[in-house]
Amino acid sequence: MSSHDSVAVLGTGIMGAPMARNLAEAGFPVRVWNRTQEKAEPLRAAGAAIAGTPADAAAGAAVLLTMLTDADAVLDTAGAALGGQDVWVQSSTIGIEGTERCAALAAERGVAFVDAPVLGTRQPAEEGKLIVLASGPDAQRDRLAPLFAAVAARTVWLGEAGAGTRLKLVANTWVLTLVEGLAESIALAEGLGIAPEAFLDAIAGGPLDAGYAQAKGRGMIERAFPPAFPLRHAAKDLRLVEDAAARHRLDVPLVGAIADRLAEGVRRGHGDLDMSATFLTSTERD
Ligand code: NAP
Repeated sequence: MSSHDSVAVLGTGIMGAPMARNLAEAGFPVRVWNRTQEKAEPLRAAGAAIAGTPADAAAGAAVLLTMLTDADAVLDTAGAALGGQDVWVQSSTIGIEGTERCAALAAERGVAFVDAPVLGTRQPAEEGKLIVLASGPDAQRDRLAPLFAAVAARTVWLGEAGAGTRLKLVANTWVLTLVEGLAESIALAEGLGIAPEAFLDAIAGGPLDAGYAQAKGRGMIERAFPPAFPLRHAAKDLRLVEDAAARHRLDVPLVGAIADRLAEGVRRGHGDLDMSATFLTSTERD
């Protein structure tokens, strides 16, 4: 595809907005739609057009890109917009079954389907440095390279549609076990009368360190949880992992325990904070 091909972006939240901005700034004609239109308005300044409905955004576009909360939001929205485009790039995290339902919808509407969830959060999205986990028809690989180059530092192609989503579930299992483990380590340090900074300093630079531990750990210590990856989406994702594990008859008890933990954080009203706010579930007294 060339930068003359137009792209319809449905969903301008934390991730969709910077992706749309980067596409517009790379020269693609971009039309966006967001359920809450005010959130899309700032994209005008980057040259994107704002559509009033998903169908208006998608009409005449070569590519439909979805970046919405969950499978139901994606299927409702794309269901009202899909048809006539060359390809649907589905980047929301919606799990195995959700992706199968999208592939079926795309087949029904005669549009090629590329399953393309992303790794990376608010800042990499803003910097155009996501990692795209793409899977779908080989013919789309070269065609979509300029589009992915506008939003990502790297694109990993994985074969048939669905593989990208499966790898995304694996990667989020890793991230979310790390974050819950970090939260409980820092809570334990505080509770045991050890300065949590001493824990982060002790692991700094060694094999036990992780960039995420330092970044998210400082946030936990400072009780600062500006949402990069909202806790409610993290909770959704671990439920998708649980579904995937059940479907493949895998025994992954930690996933279930952390999923319950994240859901508890959402129940306590922390769903719109960053996922690292799961820390509060360990430190708040009932
Ligand atoms: P977000 O900021 O919460 O944005 C969610 C978007 O979905 C908004 O545009 C929202 O519209 C829309 N939406 C929700 N329910 C809808 C419905 N029923 N019908 C139509 N639109 C609906 O989320 P995000 O962080 O950008 O994440 C988007 C997707 O990417 C999620 O699947 C998430 O798991 C995944 N993801 C996120 C990150 C991250 O670090 N944030 C990283 C990788 C992948 P309104 O503005 O009207 O609410």
